[in-house]
Amino acid sequence: MNPFTTDPAQSVAALGERRLIAHLRAWLGKATSPAPFGIGDDCAVLPASRSRHLLVTTDPVIYGRHFDDAISPAAAAEKLLKRNLSDIAAMGGVPRSAVVSLALPRRVSIAWIRGFYRALGRCAVRHGVTIAGGDIAESADMLGAFLTLLGEASGPRVLTRQGARAGDWLYVSGALGGSILGKHCRFTPRLAEGRWLASRREVRCLMDLSDGLAKDLLELTPAGLRPALTAAALPVSRAARTLASRDGRTALDHALSDGEDFELLFAIAGRTDRPAFERGWRTRFSTPLTCIGRFARTGESLGETLPLERYHGYEHLAGA
Ligand SMILES: [Mg+2]
Repeated sequence: MNPFTTDPAQSVAALGERRLIAHLRAWLGKATSPAPFGIGDDCAVLPASRSRHLLVTTDPVIYGRHFDDAISPAAAAEKLLKRNLSDIAAMGGVPRSAVVSLALPRRVSIAWIRGFYRALGRCAVRHGVTIAGGDIAESADMLGAFLTLLGEASGPRVLTRQGARAGDWLYVSGALGGSILGKHCRFTPRLAEGRWLASRREVRCLMDLSDGLAKDLLELTPAGLRPALTAAALPVSRAARTLASRDGRTALDHALSDGEDFELLFAIAGRTDRPAFERGWRTRFSTPLTCIGRFARTGESLGETLPLERYHGYEHLAGA
């Protein structure tokens, strides 16, 4: 849906800020905090946390960049919250509260913003998240929504990107590649899976895949190690195969290079009883789990492995 209208009466400018905020609160429904601690005061006030680590993440959706006219306002809103939820999942955490800031051109239609906020509210309620506040800034052209999500650790341990050692096994959830065909806004953040991983001592490190496996893997790889992957083991998505049949690139290239998979990537200790670990996952989750290889020392041969340096993930702020 195109977010803009040429009819001034149908635009957010016709509402003015105070009425717009009242509408936003109504559209969010049960997802807003109860007065006086939620939307409408100078700060949102959150209940004090237990002694667990607090988690904070922030990610936007920007028109023309993360969504376009082919995407419904509801899908854009879900993408906004879920890409932040995926970051909380990637630390093994539990999401709690969010604030949303809008960069809003006057010609955005009321219909679009209504669809966006209603869906944001539904998605927040579904995941136990309160929308506690935010801000609206008028902008000339850019339409964007910037969400900051607070969460907390699910237990004493927060899983980070650090900690992989030689011989560790590498796993991914789900299937990879081709998310541009729809998954980029229809994915399921792997929150329950992340929480379970944080409770398992054999798990060394964890992240979510946003820029493509080939690039994101570098984030988990300590100096002196290299990821040794087997091409045949990679869970290539059907969408990656569909894209490959259209553009002449291989499905493997899409699985390694495409962004916005929002799956979990993690390493477990090399001495782990893998069949028992995998059974533990499968009794809890229907999400596919695949061992894609392991960490080897640089220079150590593990037979035929993927030349990852030939594949490139999504580069932010790349030069022309
Ligand atoms: Mg992330």
